[in-house]
Formats: sequence, structure tokens, C-alpha cells
Amino acid sequence: MSDKTITRFAPSPTGWIHVGNLRTALMNYLIARKAGGEFILRIDDTDPNRSKEEYVDGIKRDLDWLGLHWDRVERQSLRIEKYHEAAKELREMGRFYEAFETPTELDLKRKKQLNMGKPPVYDRAALKLSEDEKNALRAERGDGVWRFKLLHERIIWNDGILGDISIDGASVSDPVLIRGDGQILYTLASVVDDTEMGVTHVVRGSDHVTNTGTQIQIMQALGGTPPSFAHHSLLTGPQGEALSKRLGTLALKDLREAGIAPQALLSLMSRLGSSDPVELRTDMAEFIEGFDITRFGSSPTKFDAEDLKPLTAKYLAALPLADVADDIAALGVPADKAEQFWAVTRENITTLHDLAPWWEMFSKGAEPVIDDEDREFIAQAMTMLPDGEYDAETWGSFTAAVKEATGRKGKGLFMPLRKALTGQAHGPDMSAVLPLLQVIKARG
Ligand code: GLU
Repeated sequence: MSDKTITRFAPSPTGWIHVGNLRTALMNYLIARKAGGEFILRIDDTDPNRSKEEYVDGIKRDLDWLGLHWDRVERQSLRIEKYHEAAKELREMGRFYEAFETPTELDLKRKKQLNMGKPPVYDRAALKLSEDEKNALRAERGDGVWRFKLLHERIIWNDGILGDISIDGASVSDPVLIRGDGQILYTLASVVDDTEMGVTHVVRGSDHVTNTGTQIQIMQALGGTPPSFAHHSLLTGPQGEALSKRLGTLALKDLREAGIAPQALLSLMSRLGSSDPVELRTDMAEFIEGFDITRFGSSPTKFDAEDLKPLTAKYLAALPLADVADDIAALGVPADKAEQFWAVTRENITTLHDLAPWWEMFSKGAEPVIDDEDREFIAQAMTMLPDGEYDAETWGSFTAAVKEATGRKGKGLFMPLRKALTGQAHGPDMSAVLPLLQVIKARG
């Protein structure tokens, strides 16, 4: 075996991928890139009923958007033969057996075991069935499921994040690898693929820890060498609440549509749950360079989508006009105003979606906000606003003239004017705003 590092991201195309999946994808990607290795996108589509092409396309689009480019794509649905070959091998070595319990029967067994204070582990009753009994059950219930016979010994590995792990094989139910309808399950497919594709490192969520125990035994039974495993902690909401139900609303697609910058997502997710600070980074080389899986902890990691906003804002504020020129032109901003428009808005937006209301305000005029005590002042000031094109000097000369005429100064001078012209008490420098105002409603 070569010592090339090979990782894979193995989503099931049964939905849109979310921030939890991104954590997995990113870690595997960064490990491969840092080692100059290979990153495989493996589509775990063994379930034809739940897998959809739409989601395969979605996964690729999301990874592309983030710049997590894969070296090749593999699809489990195209490799079913290989899984059957492995199943045959397991059968031949006496590590695979057919079982016929219905879900209700299994549930009952579990309840009984729990009542007796025993762990709810499958009792291997099927191992005692004679051929005649199996035939009778098959005739009555159809084909059974196929379970892998675990060795009742300790399964140990040194986890890249969790440290030394030891699982008692006897505490785990023999896993079902083939369903009654003949469908190969991911647990087997994954083992076959990881072995055959030479995967050296597997990072995935800590909900897979038990799976890893059984997969190590299946791999060993099939003569493969288990990869290094690392299990990252699961994400929780900002208050530590389970995120699993809300993950549907944290799809990468939705974040993209909400205007979150991929650089913001990568910056947060490459550091969240580690002992390194979250900093905005924009260059993939920096993410790769700065990644160290040993810095990640095992305790649940709080994720707050709100954190993506300041990172996005910071990213956007630093962008040159060229990078946003198309977005700005699409709003209808004339080319000769684009530079000025970007200079004024770049530090006053969270996402690019916020540009539209700014242009709306500049092009159509803001509803003036005028306090009662300022009415006369504004009426007088507006008569002094020059006609025609405004430039960077206009605001200075205009306010100097108004000051002279009205005797107002400081906040009492500037604030009412700002509110009358922009409808807001805060905002960008008025000398930059004024030249962009195409309509001034405060003039009546
Ligand atoms: N398809 C599996 C999942 O999405 C892959 C897990 C693994 O990385 O092995 O949970």
C-alpha cells in the first residue's frame, strides 16, 4: 500500500447538505490537501428509494461554491456487485447469518432485556435456526436480513479526536448489512469502498462511533486494514440545544441564498470546536496550512448561524469593486456611479443582498424623517441645497452655508439634515452619500 493520504466525503443524497455535513467534508478535504493526497467525493446512494439526483447535483454545487474540489467521484449504486462479493465472502467464512425477526419482535426482545436490566443487544436467536426452520420462515415472511457476526472481543482504536476508544464487541448488536428486500446497507458498502479505494483517514460525526467499531471488525474479516478514524463532536445550537431538527434550516444552499460568503463559512467551520480562534481567512491555502485535527475537542460544539454575518460583512468590506461590479450593475447603478456606490455601501452591508435597499434609497429618495422642532430649519436648509450634480465637496460647502444662515452647529446641524436626506440617524459619511442621491424627497 502506498503512503498517500486518501480521504473521502460520503454523503447520502437524500437531502440538502447542511453545516454539520460541511464540518465532515471540510475536515476530510483539509487532511487530504495538507498531505498532498486525494479527496474523494463518494455518493452513498445504496438506497434507491431515498436517493435523488437533485441532491447529488446539490452536493456538488455546494462543494463547488465552497471551493472544496474533489479529485474524483464514486457512486455506491454503481458498485453493488462488489458488495455482493464481500457478502459472499462473509457467508463463506461463517460471519454472516440470516435472521427473520420482525421489527415488532425485535422491539419486544429489547424491552424484555431492558426490563431485566440487560443491554438491548440482539440475542442471535437466528443462529440457532435449522435449515428447515429458515425455509419455513422464508416461505412465510420472505427473505430475512443478513447480520454480521461480531467477535465478542474488545475493539480498540486511537481516535484522531476522541483519543483511545475501546468498545466491547459483545455490547453491540450484530449489524444488519443486507435488508430483507436485498438492499445492501451503507455499513457494508462503506467498508468495501474504504478498503478498495485505499482510504487512509475517515473523519465523521461522533454519531458514527459504534459504527466504526463494527466496521473495523468487518474490514478485518475481509482482510482489509482499517483507516485512521476521527469523530468530531456534534453541533448544537447557541444554547447547547440539539441541532439535529434544525439542521434542515441550515442547509448550505439556504446559507448561500441568504448571501453568506463561502469564505465566512469556511473560516467559521474550519475552527469551530477547536482551540484556535475563528478568524476571517479568504485563501484556501491558509485553511489548509492552518488545519490541525488534534486541536479539536470532543465536547459538543455550539454553532450560531448569526456568527456568519459579521464574517461575511468583514469579507465584503475588503472586496475591490471588480469583485462586485456585476452585482452592482444588476441593481441598475450607472457605471460612473459604481465606484462611489461601493465605497459608500461596502462597510454598511452584511450581505450583498443589502445593496438593493441602498440603491433603492439613493435612486428613489428616502422618506425624510424630520422632527417637529426641525421643520423650519430643514425647510430653510433645503432651499440652500444647490441644483445639479453633487460631488465630494458639496456636503461641506452646503453645511457651511446652512450653519452660517441658521447659526446651528455640531449635532444639531448635521443630524436633522442626515435624517431628512436619508431617513436614518446613522449611515455612511454624508459627503459620500450626497453625490449618490438621485432624488431628494426632503425638498418636497
Ligand atoms: N453516508 C454516511 C453518512 O452520511 C457516511 C458516513 C461515513 O463517513 O462513513 O452518514
